[in-house]
Amino acid sequence: MKRWIGPLAGFIACGLLVPGASAQSKGEVVVYCSVLNEWCLAASQAFERKTGVKVILNVKGSGEVGAQLRAEASNPRADVWWGGTGDPHLAAAEADLTVAYKPAALGELHPWAVKQWEQSGGKTIGIYAGVLGFTWNTELIASKKLQAPKCWADLTRAEFRDEIQMSNPSSSGTAYTALATLIQVMGEDKAFGYLKGLHRNISQYTRSGPAPVRNAARAETMIGIIFLHDAVAEANEGFPLATAAPCEGTGYEIGSMSLVKGGRNPDNAKLWYEWSLSAEAQSLAKENKSFQVPSNRSAAAHPKAPRLEDIKLVDYDFAKYGSSEERKRIVSRWEQEVGMLP
Ligand code: PLP
Repeated sequence: MKRWIGPLAGFIACGLLVPGASAQSKGEVVVYCSVLNEWCLAASQAFERKTGVKVILNVKGSGEVGAQLRAEASNPRADVWWGGTGDPHLAAAEADLTVAYKPAALGELHPWAVKQWEQSGGKTIGIYAGVLGFTWNTELIASKKLQAPKCWADLTRAEFRDEIQMSNPSSSGTAYTALATLIQVMGEDKAFGYLKGLHRNISQYTRSGPAPVRNAARAETMIGIIFLHDAVAEANEGFPLATAAPCEGTGYEIGSMSLVKGGRNPDNAKLWYEWSLSAEAQSLAKENKSFQVPSNRSAAAHPKAPRLEDIKLVDYDFAKYGSSEERKRIVSRWEQEVGMLP
């Protein structure tokens, strides 16, 4: 197993080929993976067992992979970008960093996953969906005798000073989803006014999207703005976490997958692409602390997975918020007006 260590995780060659399978003859595939480490590893190992193709894994947040693909455009190192929020996948498609492909399983997918594929001219496709919301440490909140937040408006209450974490939109797709969601819920200027108020209560903007969940689980923050499925998965492990979807309405991600333009192993990349859309592959998520809604209609979600139909969702404009220009504009406005504040 080879590991390319980055701050979030790293490059990992899984090295679990079944006896008799030849890495030489089957070759390798380089996967940039933007889901939880556990799921990245389990998927890679299952794919290696199934195909004999060696997987070289690099685990990083969505914003970071988007930036890395741009930096590597003249000499691509990845074959597939697997997982992470859909907006930066759409931006990569628009920037011509990824290529169109029509998978055999297209007809087995939920309409939201197919829409992502259609919207990008076939360059990215939904592999799961996840809803943005809050989590809080139930013991910490009880010890301070505070009311749990249920609405976006609650997060700016003075009693939550320094008690909230969210990720940084420059590196994290989760945080970008939060910015785009607030703009769609409130209108842009109000959303930025809100984010400045929220900033007073933020103790840390983490690099990765799921970090506030882990930190809340370990009582290092009281509240996190996160994808609900990550917090539900940690609660399922026994951590004292509860969750809420904001009462004003919330956004969601279509976790996506793209084939990298100029990747050195295009055939193995397509093998991964096809395999990872299968119900069999997607059902691995729930066994690996990943409670997203799978995009294959026959794949089983974890019984505790948040259900899209139970939550007040905004009509998320993926075309608009997935465009590279809009993304750049919103993130730099945040950096200048909010991120720079003391
Ligand atoms: N890890 C998990 C479990 C996720 O659900 C997501 C969202 O797609 C990500 C990572 C993406 O992380 P980031 O916000 O750091 O881009």
